[in-house]
Amino acid sequence: MNFAFTEEQQMFRDMFADFVAKEVEPLAEHISEHEEIPKALLKKAAMQGFLGALLPEEYGGAALDMVSYILLLEEVAKSDMSTAMVLHVHNDLVSRAILLCGSAEQKEQWLPAMAEGSVIGAWAFAEPDPAGLTNLQVMARAADDGYVLHGTKTWVSNAGIAGLMVVFAQAPEGPTALLVPADAAGLKLGQRDKTLGMRGVQIHPVYFNDVAVPADAVLGRPGDAQAVMAAVGDFSRLAMAAIALGGAEHALSLGVDFAKERKQFGVEIARKGAIQAYIADSAVEVETLRSQVYRCASLADQGLLDGLSASIAKLWANRVSYQVANRMIQTHGGYGYILDYAIGRVFRDCRTVEGIEGSNRTQQAAIARSVLAAHGFVM
Ligand SMILES: Cc1cc2nc3c(=O)[nH]c(=O)nc-3n(C[C@H](O)[C@H](O)[C@H](O)COP(=O)(O)OP(=O)(O)OC[C@H]3O[C@@H](n4cnc5c(N)ncnc54)[C@H](O)[C@@H]3O)c2cc1C
Repeated sequence: MNFAFTEEQQMFRDMFADFVAKEVEPLAEHISEHEEIPKALLKKAAMQGFLGALLPEEYGGAALDMVSYILLLEEVAKSDMSTAMVLHVHNDLVSRAILLCGSAEQKEQWLPAMAEGSVIGAWAFAEPDPAGLTNLQVMARAADDGYVLHGTKTWVSNAGIAGLMVVFAQAPEGPTALLVPADAAGLKLGQRDKTLGMRGVQIHPVYFNDVAVPADAVLGRPGDAQAVMAAVGDFSRLAMAAIALGGAEHALSLGVDFAKERKQFGVEIARKGAIQAYIADSAVEVETLRSQVYRCASLADQGLLDGLSASIAKLWANRVSYQVANRMIQTHGGYGYILDYAIGRVFRDCRTVEGIEGSNRTQQAAIARSVLAAHGFVM
């Protein structure tokens, strides 16, 4: 086993950190306060290749290996988890699903535009009354030359800036993934959902009022949306874990900086045992999360990432990001509640992680299923 980064991966990490320090960090507070990521920032990210990070060069992508890409999300999230989330949905869900499951024509049509950032991707799976992939409430009725979509999706991240949505709908053949341009006739965005954390992500419900979709917009095979979910699911959970890792690291460094400066009765609080316990427990958790995330990214590069490892990473990421940010709020004492201090924003962003790509309960269920199956007990 090799636990060291390659020279190239280290070079990429330095480059990402440099970009983030210059372009993301100065805007992080603005993004949260104004609840949007400036278009100019996404343009600069696209010019660096970050919007085609995982795509091969033939589609204008940067063709990063998975470890390097995970480092990109971690570095961006260390400054702004909203920007990392926008990259995640665009890269790991939408463009990766097209790359892995799309036809040659679909790849030609969408991937170069996604890599250059002229089309941003959104992933429309969640519904108001969720009943799982096999009971989708958005219907894709058969029409002469394809389908007609009807129904409502909720929680669509990037909806406000998207040019393309992957929409999961119940077709006559079964649950089906469809590539739907955001300007399709009959597609309407609902009122923006204002969120507790990751406020820069533009999340809307999306209404499909008899939206005509041609047959060649099916991603993968009709009736086999499960294959599309499976193609991207494990890596996507890992990517969210990497974003949580960046958030937890940011929280810890804010707490440590504060503890070094803040004096009580003339003594820095960093000298107090209780504060040292917060710092030590947080450092242990961050380090073990980092190990799991990098290990999974290395497995992904070898085509060996498995669902159990990804769920363990995501469950631990949910817990660590919340716990570390919570301790660092407490380290700030009363200042933790004053919005001028960045720790409040980071806490809200970290708390949002569990709501995305599977809660603790969902991950626990998946992990328990795998462990029980490994012991011969099939549920
Ligand atoms: C910031 C953010 C961005 C998102 N972006 C997207 C996106 O781009 N695309 C998309 O499709 N979705 C997105 N989602 C939706 C997300 O993936 C979940 O589908 C959604 O958060 C679930 O919310 P809900 O209210 O339907 O929860 P519910 O499913 O109603 O769950 C409510 C609670 O019950 C628990 N629970 C539910 N079922 C069980 C069970 N069987 N056993 C035990 N406990 C259970 C849950 O863990 C949770 O605590 C996003 C969510 C958030 C918060």
